[in-house]
Amino acid sequence: MKPVIALVGRPNVGKSTLFNRLTKSRDAIVADFAGLTRDRHYGDARLGDREFIVIDTGGFEPDSTTGIVKEMAKQTRQAVAEADAVVFVVDVRLGLSAQDSDIARYLRQANKRIFLAVNKAEGMSDSPLLGEFHELGLGEPHPISASHGQGIRSLLEAVLEPFEFEEDEEAAPENDGVIRLAVAGRPNVGKSTLINTWLGEERLVAFDMPGTTRDAIAVPFERNGQQFQLIDTAGLRRKGKVFEAIEKFSVVKTLQAIADANVVLLLLDATQGVSDQDAHIAGYILESGRAVVLAVNKWDAIDSYQREQLQRSIEQRLAFLKFAPIHNISALKRQGLGPLWGALADAYASAYRKMTTPVLTRLIQEAVEHQTPKRSGHFRPKLRYAHQGGMNPPLVIVHGNSLEGVTEAYKRYLEGRIRAHYKLVGTPMRIEMRSSK
Ligand code: GDP
Ligand code: GDP
Repeated sequence: MKPVIALVGRPNVGKSTLFNRLTKSRDAIVADFAGLTRDRHYGDARLGDREFIVIDTGGFEPDSTTGIVKEMAKQTRQAVAEADAVVFVVDVRLGLSAQDSDIARYLRQANKRIFLAVNKAEGMSDSPLLGEFHELGLGEPHPISASHGQGIRSLLEAVLEPFEFEEDEEAAPENDGVIRLAVAGRPNVGKSTLINTWLGEERLVAFDMPGTTRDAIAVPFERNGQQFQLIDTAGLRRKGKVFEAIEKFSVVKTLQAIADANVVLLLLDATQGVSDQDAHIAGYILESGRAVVLAVNKWDAIDSYQREQLQRSIEQRLAFLKFAPIHNISALKRQGLGPLWGALADAYASAYRKMTTPVLTRLIQEAVEHQTPKRSGHFRPKLRYAHQGGMNPPLVIVHGNSLEGVTEAYKRYLEGRIRAHYKLVGTPMRIEMRSSK
């Protein structure tokens, strides 16, 4: 399981700059906890092939009238509690402040591995200014520049040193016919209700997943002859021999479950419409490449006018998931649950569809005959053949010449034809162009 690193520190020291650098273009999940001035951000990051999760605590605009110090402490505490290691960011240009000392005092007793990053230290790797930060009692300060990208690799090497990483974290989860399923969605969409409904219906044998450092739980069960393994996102608890979902929304758990899953069931709340947080989670799932089925829960609680509006808003706001089937359900009233199993199985089968080189090549050639790619500069892209480069998500690698000129629109056109031929539903797919000159 990916280690979790929290970035903490007072406002303006450069935490979000560091977060953005670590997560690059990858989508962040934003946990918009009501009442907080700024949200916590979660994102995937990597050093070489070691992947980890970063949490940015944001920090708060200093405002003495609203007890902001208290809020900051709360943010920091929550992020620290979720993390395996903490990077405490300070600002070398402003020097040591009383607030830094307060945070350091808290961190020293938090019983986590703490690393002190002295930011904005571009070009001053051995400046005497760094010396004063020893006072914080958090070990050797690591000078970094978040905005210039200096010192970050050596900081991360130190932070990640004790963690074990699997050989190939990028590899899709194993394809052994068991569907690893994660149920994702923001607080109150009905994840626990749905899971408890399922768990109540089945005779379940639950076990602790082997090979993980955390006590993650996976619950195996069978439906229509298909084996599933439910990956915990919702705080599954053992109650004697029975398992029960007690929802405590954890973004970290959600991210880890998505990484471990083959298929994600993303729940939306019909009574709330599509929120930014839904869109963030959906974007993250898409980025992860996992197969996805959408379920609009609490369908029982809205009238026909609201249903129409909701369908339109899903089409607009989640347009990027239009490959995902949508099911309207009521976990509470146990309505619409049956067809979900088929949709999950289809999404899984699509994610692992085998595509042969001759068929892919024929599809590509037919696509070109039907519509040639536009000339770009002096050259017209020449698509020669294609092969399958991966599964979950399906990856098609197209070979040819001058393929840099293939537009995004043309890739979408190819994707549409490949999807139609292989009847891919519920899985994203990727197309990569590989020029041979
Ligand atoms: P946060 O409030 O801790 O998240 O801080 P931000 O990431 O928003 O950064 C606060 C300010 O510091 C911004 O103006 C950044 O451009 C600037 N900043 C961040 N990192 C560096 C750095 O390494 N060097 C310098 N000179 N400025 C930086
Ligand atoms: P979670 O935070 O995603 O685990 O959500 P819960 O399962 O705790 O559900 C949040 C609230 O929504 C509870 O009060 C449930 O009773 C209610 N709820 C869940 N599913 C449904 C449903 O299908 N219809 C209606 N009307 N309410 C539901």
